Amino acid sequence: MSTAKYIFVTGGVTSSLGKGIIAASLGKLLQARGFKVTIQKFDPYINIDPGTLNPYEHGECYVTSDGAETDLDLGHYERFLNIETSQANNITTGRIYNNVITKERHGEYLGKTVQVVPHITDEIKRNIFLLGESGEFDFVITEIGGSVGDIESLPFIEAVRQVRWDLGANNALVIHLTLIPYLKAAKELKTKPTQHSVKELLAEGVQPDILVCRTELPLPMELRKKLALFCNVHLNSVIEAIDADTIYDVPMLMKKEKLDERVLAKLKVHSKAEPDLDQWKTFLGKLKNPMDEVTIGLVGKYVSLPDAYKSIAEAIVHAGAENDSKVNVQWISSEDINSESVDAILRGLNGVLVAPGFGERGMEGKIEAIRYVRENKMPFFGICLGMQCAVVEYARHVLGLEASSTELNAKTKNPVIDMMEEQKKITMKGGTMRLGSYDCKLKKGSKAHAAYGENLIQERHRHRYEFNNKYLEQMEAAGMKAVGVNPESGLVEVVELKDHPWFIGVQYHPELRSTVLNPHPLFVKFVDAALNHKRSIS
Ligand code: GLN
Repeated sequence: MSTAKYIFVTGGVTSSLGKGIIAASLGKLLQARGFKVTIQKFDPYINIDPGTLNPYEHGECYVTSDGAETDLDLGHYERFLNIETSQANNITTGRIYNNVITKERHGEYLGKTVQVVPHITDEIKRNIFLLGESGEFDFVITEIGGSVGDIESLPFIEAVRQVRWDLGANNALVIHLTLIPYLKAAKELKTKPTQHSVKELLAEGVQPDILVCRTELPLPMELRKKLALFCNVHLNSVIEAIDADTIYDVPMLMKKEKLDERVLAKLKVHSKAEPDLDQWKTFLGKLKNPMDEVTIGLVGKYVSLPDAYKSIAEAIVHAGAENDSKVNVQWISSEDINSESVDAILRGLNGVLVAPGFGERGMEGKIEAIRYVRENKMPFFGICLGMQCAVVEYARHVLGLEASSTELNAKTKNPVIDMMEEQKKITMKGGTMRLGSYDCKLKKGSKAHAAYGENLIQERHRHRYEFNNKYLEQMEAAGMKAVGVNPESGLVEVVELKDHPWFIGVQYHPELRSTVLNPHPLFVKFVDAALNHKRSIS
């Protein structure tokens, strides 16, 4: 039997209330008291994983070291807790059903009718306990995606009900996150939607232990009393979650509201230590008191939904704080860029980041943007597709080749970026790209090596195409150096230009490893280069 304690976070009234941030903030507070904590997300949709979802549907797909394509909330967990998550930290309805149906085909339920209760709920429970049973954690926080009352989340809530019953109130508790809307006309905060949402949860057999209430305005005592009375929770377990300037304030706000203390008291865990949040506070201090300011452009295809580039945006925040500077990000749609518009769009910026992406749409705009920053010696950071576009741009405009990526033009004369051999035979989608952490050896004397201060690094991947090594010699001779290479496969991981203040393209996704306590060195140096650019032109 596992000794871990289980905390469930459900949501009601609306989606997008920030369950992930609340879960991560609670995790942070418990971790800062010296406990070992992990967080997992259960998503009620039918896709096996979010890898096949359009970023417009569900935001960015976060990739873990073990190569799982997961929900973007896992990024928050890693950034807040400075821990690694894995496939076990993100389960969907699709995965649960897939496991159960596979077992059924293997005859594991022979003779039985396979049903939602107990077979689907048992499989959900098995996954709830998986991390806890490793013996590595004091607390396992499980965030249930969606809102209470959704048809899809029913089996998950039923599993939570069973776990709460099986383990008892000292070993499992439920936090329900809801919205307290402010009605302008009435000038009042309203508790009714929360009351209804708790009723819905009760109808599914779950009494929440703690209510966390998202609100624009402070929650007055009489409203807290009303919520406590109508929702059967203790008065001190009605927690205010007021809108914050930055998500990184939320752990401090939850500490002020004593969320961690309530959780520990209810789970009968003694903790004498106060949370040690010194490093967190240092980061917040730097974030809120910048000494300088710089503006960079983020060129991408999905810029109207910033969640599509969540990890990049957060890595920029971390790097800004590390440089004691505020980084303003201008989101630029790659489809708006062409040879005529590029100057007007990029002039005045101090650096340009070209984002990852899939498909040909907007690729020519990215290539045009890279030509501009290369020629104008503006700091450039290309990530995955951004790096591939930099290679195509260099081949076209410096080597004078009629070149492309086969993703953009399958019949190009010079496929400087081409599909990886092992990818050519794959027709299935989902989990089939080059995924997860791979080694990369850095060349001494390069900017990348100086940034990392290490010879061998590990970074996460998610791509099908690669630098075509047939062109390596030619490219290097012309000035684009492959300064990071995978030691086993020889795949090019990092390219750099020598005669440019800061021009780096990486085949991997460095943004996935940037955390509050460990800002990513390449982002830190990119922001530093942007600050230098600003100083050099002013
Ligand atoms: N579409 C490119 C590939 O598959 C780049 C992927 C990415 O940017 N993550 O190789």
